[in-house]
Amino acid sequence: MMQTIRVYQFGGPEVLRLEEQPRPSPGPGEVLVQLKAIGVNPVDTYWVAGMNPAVSLPFTPGLDGAGVVDAVGPGVDAQWIGNRVIVAGSVTGTYAQWTVAKASRVHPLPPNTTFAQGASLPIPYGTAHRALFHRAQARAGETVLIHGASGGVGLAAIQFARTAGLTIIATAGTESGRQLVKTQGAHHVLDHTNPDYLQEIQAITGGRGVDIILEMLANINLGKDLPLLAAAGRVIVIGNRGKVEINARDLMIREADIRGMLLFNVPEEELRNIHREIYSGLEKGALQPIIGKELPLKEAAQAQESVIKSRAYGKIILIP
Ligand code: NAP
Repeated sequence: MMQTIRVYQFGGPEVLRLEEQPRPSPGPGEVLVQLKAIGVNPVDTYWVAGMNPAVSLPFTPGLDGAGVVDAVGPGVDAQWIGNRVIVAGSVTGTYAQWTVAKASRVHPLPPNTTFAQGASLPIPYGTAHRALFHRAQARAGETVLIHGASGGVGLAAIQFARTAGLTIIATAGTESGRQLVKTQGAHHVLDHTNPDYLQEIQAITGGRGVDIILEMLANINLGKDLPLLAAAGRVIVIGNRGKVEINARDLMIREADIRGMLLFNVPEEELRNIHREIYSGLEKGALQPIIGKELPLKEAAQAQESVIKSRAYGKIILIP
């Protein structure tokens, strides 16, 4: 048996139930992982709220985790057993002591990386990589505004942008968040709750504007982002929680682009390559995931409440 979180009705974090359930077993092409840490992402709360029509009740939430391979299903190399791994997508849900994942969604965890750090990687680092290098086509020497840099995706984006030679302007809503993004390598740090911060961004670029904006809250910011762009600038919409009004003329005069991105659209081969790059970045120390808070699995509801409502400071991790 194992402890797991189950959801029997869609709703807020209060619908999460801690239960004893039988351990799952891996089918063909799958592995069973004993989880040591679980990454909590905003998307987990969207699924619990019933926003993914492909999810049917009851279910166990969670896509990210890290642990040790306990067993493999038919067709999977038994040499995986005992390996420390990152789980980047799960069949049975990661808010549990054990999870089943497709073997293709399990990646090695470098020896210098903790389980908590491993669990914090898949969605945030996958998203930041796809946004920066695939959707924005970032090049060394360009300036990126990371609009919401104190959370999981933002910090990952700072670390990737730093290794790629970009100038980074990063925002956060608290003093502790701003300290964190500064220590992670942002060149300029601003407060997105300060009424004057948009003018400060223009001043930092000498009026030229920024080449790339990674946007974590488009429904609040997209209309204000467009006048901040340089000629041929690109806004990558990563996070959005509602409708927004823009002036399309801001795009015309700059020949600028708004580009959406969704990690679930990334083909498996590209994801594998992203994880190869993450492995190498971790080994070299260029990537250093920041854990803000660790909570026991039974406090999953509090973790989900925090990831949506509290000001961000690194990743929230559950320990099973
Ligand atoms: P997180 O860890 O909760 O961080 C949220 C970030 O948004 C924090 O840096 C927060 O800053 C910032 N923020 C809050 N108010 C803001 C504002 N008015 N303007 C700009 N930024 C603001 O979440 P996450 O994991 O980094 O994810 C960020 C967003 O991207 C979420 O909406 C998530 O659903 C989405 N996402 C999308 C994809 C995709 O495939 N498209 C993948 C992963 C995540 P403060 O708390 O310091 O104010």
